[in-house]
Amino acid sequence: MVPTWPHLHLPMAGNAALLLAQMLYLQGTRQHLGMAQHDRAMLCACALTLLGLLLFTYVWPHYRARVALMSFCMALIYARHAWLLLRQGGAGLGMRFTGCCQALMCSIMMLRCVSSPWTLNDSSAQLMPTPMQVIYVGSFSLMVLLINMGQLVMVSERLRDEYRRLATQDSLTGSLTRHAWLELFHHELARLQRHPQPLCAMLIDIDWFKNVNDQYGHLVGDQVLRRVCQTLHAALRPSDGLGRYGGEEFVVLLPAVDAQGALRCAQRLCAAVAELPSNQGLPGCTVSIGVSAWRPGESCPEPMLARADAALYLAKAQGRNRACLDEALQDSANVAAAGSTVLAV
Ligand code: GH3
Ligand code: MG
Ligand code: MG
Repeated sequence: MVPTWPHLHLPMAGNAALLLAQMLYLQGTRQHLGMAQHDRAMLCACALTLLGLLLFTYVWPHYRARVALMSFCMALIYARHAWLLLRQGGAGLGMRFTGCCQALMCSIMMLRCVSSPWTLNDSSAQLMPTPMQVIYVGSFSLMVLLINMGQLVMVSERLRDEYRRLATQDSLTGSLTRHAWLELFHHELARLQRHPQPLCAMLIDIDWFKNVNDQYGHLVGDQVLRRVCQTLHAALRPSDGLGRYGGEEFVVLLPAVDAQGALRCAQRLCAAVAELPSNQGLPGCTVSIGVSAWRPGESCPEPMLARADAALYLAKAQGRNRACLDEALQDSANVAAAGSTVLAV
C-alpha cells in the first residue's frame, strides 16, 4: 500500500517534535548545571537526523532506516544527558537517579537501533508487538515517569541547598549568618559540657561606620564591609567561626583559645584592618573588639555575648581601634600579670 499524505507527515512531525523536546530538556539540564551555551554537537546531530528522516521519508521511503536513525540520535542525546548528570552533576540523589534512567534509555535506544534490520519489517504494520517494540514502548512510558520524578528530586535538592546557603551564609559578606554562627556556638557549648577546654568569643564593630555611609554612600559602605570581612577572614584560622552579627558588627568564636590568646588575636585583627589602605575610592577604617571567655557551667551563648558587648563598649569608650577583655578577665589577668590587659593597637 502506498503511504498517504498524513501517513508520511505525521511520523515526520512526531519525530521532529520528539527531538525538539529532547533538546529543550537537555538545554534545561545544562542551565540547571550552570552551563549557559547550547550543546552545538547535539544540535548538529539533530539537524543531520532530521535531514536523514526527510530523505528516508520523502525521497527513499524506508521505515527501518528511519527507526535506526532516530533511535541512534535519541541514544546520543540520552548518553549526553547521562554523562552530564553523572559526571558533572555532583552527588545528589536526584542527579544520579535521573542520570541512571538516561543511561538505561540510551542502552534501549542503541539496542533498538542495531536490532531494527532484524526486528522490523518494512511491509508490516509499524507498531507490531515484536519484543523490541514492546521493550521500547514500555520503557519509554515508564522512563518518562521515572525521569520526571528524578527531575523533581533534583529541583527539590537544589532548593534545599539554596535555602541552606541563604540560612547559613551572609549574602553581602559571605561570612556565617547570625543564625548559623549561634548554631555553631551552641554546638561548641554542648561539646564543652563533655570535654571542658577554653572557648572565647569576640564582638567586632567598625568604628564610625555611619560616617563612611554618610560621606561615601551606602554602596561604598557595603564594599568596606566586604573588605573588612575578607581581612578578618584572612587573619583568622580556618577553625575560627566568623559570622556577621548584624549591620557592621561581626562575631568570632575561638575554640581552644584562652583569654590572653584571644586578646592577642583581636589585637592582630585590629592591626590588619587599620593597615588597609584607602584606595580605589574605598576609605580605610578601624574596628573595636570586645573579648570574652566561657565560664564553666555556662550552657548558652547569651552571657558570653553580653560580656563581649560590655568589653566592646569599653574599647569604644577608650578611644576605638583597640581590643578590650571582659572586665572580670581583666581583673584576673591583672592579678596574674600585674600588667595592662586592655591593649590599644
Ligand atoms: P561607632 O564607632 O560608635 O560604632 O560608630 P558607628 O557610626 O559605627 O555607629 P554604629 O555602630 O551604630 O553604626 C551602624 C551603622 O552601620 C548604621 C548603618 O547605617 C550602618 N549599616 C548597618 N548595616 C549596613 C549595611 O549592610 N551596609 C551599609 N552600607 N551600612 C550598614
Ligand atoms: Mg554597630
Ligand atoms: Mg560601628
